[in-house]
Parts: sequence; C-alpha cells; structure tokens
Amino acid sequence: MLIVSKRGNPLTLKTQNLMQEKLNRRDFLFKAAMVGAVAPALAGTLAACGGGGDTAAAGCNDTTGLAPADITMRQTLKYVDATTDPAKACDGCQLYIAATGGAACGKCSVVKGPIAPKGYCTSWVKKA
Ligand code: SF4
Repeated sequence: MLIVSKRGNPLTLKTQNLMQEKLNRRDFLFKAAMVGAVAPALAGTLAACGGGGDTAAAGCNDTTGLAPADITMRQTLKYVDATTDPAKACDGCQLYIAATGGAACGKCSVVKGPIAPKGYCTSWVKKA
C-alpha cells in the first residue's frame, strides 16, 4: 500500500516505520494515562466492596435481595462490619447467629442480611 504525505509525496518505508513507531508510542502513553486515571477509582471500589481487606469481617455489607425496610433497619441500628469496641462485637451479642459451613458472615435475629462476627450495631446485647 502506498502511503503519501500531506503534500502528496510517497513516504519511504523508513518514514512509514517512524510514523508507526510514533503512533505506538502515543497509543502506549494514552493507555498508560488511562490506567493511571482508572486505577485509583478501581481501588476505591474494591475497598468499598471489601475486596481490599483480608479479614473475615470484611464483606458482610452486601444487602442485595434485602427488602428496603430491612436495609433501613441496618442503617437505623447503625450496623457496621467492624466494631470500634472489641468488648462489643456481634460474636459476643445475644442476638448473633454464628456462620456455618465456613462462611465469613453470620446472621442476626434483629438485623437482616450478612453479619460480620466483629461487627456491631446499637442493639448489641451481652451474650448470656
Ligand atoms: S443485634 Fe447488632 S450487635 Fe447484636 S448480632 Fe445483631 S447486628 Fe450484631
């Protein structure tokens, strides 16, 4: 294929190779810039999903399939995956139902949805 310059002159193979190399470099720089722009957003999303954590407590916030009223209850009772008071964690709460089959998340008699063993909500009651 004959490639011509803007002035209509045929380009030498060397010039064509230089142009191709320039395009590849530009393409590489564009892709590198895109990765730089997307990576922080992706990291933030993973952290929000619990993908960045390595504790069993991470990732018990999936409310998919819950009724709006159940989600509101979680929010009203201020459920969190990680308690700020180690003496008051879900696994020490009377209302906690321990996870079975090696699952990371248990359940709760009051708060619907997955519950982290080291989570907490304002309805915490010391296990008898
Ligand atoms: S009542 Fe609250 S603290 Fe107790 S297990 Fe349920 S979510 Fe955890």
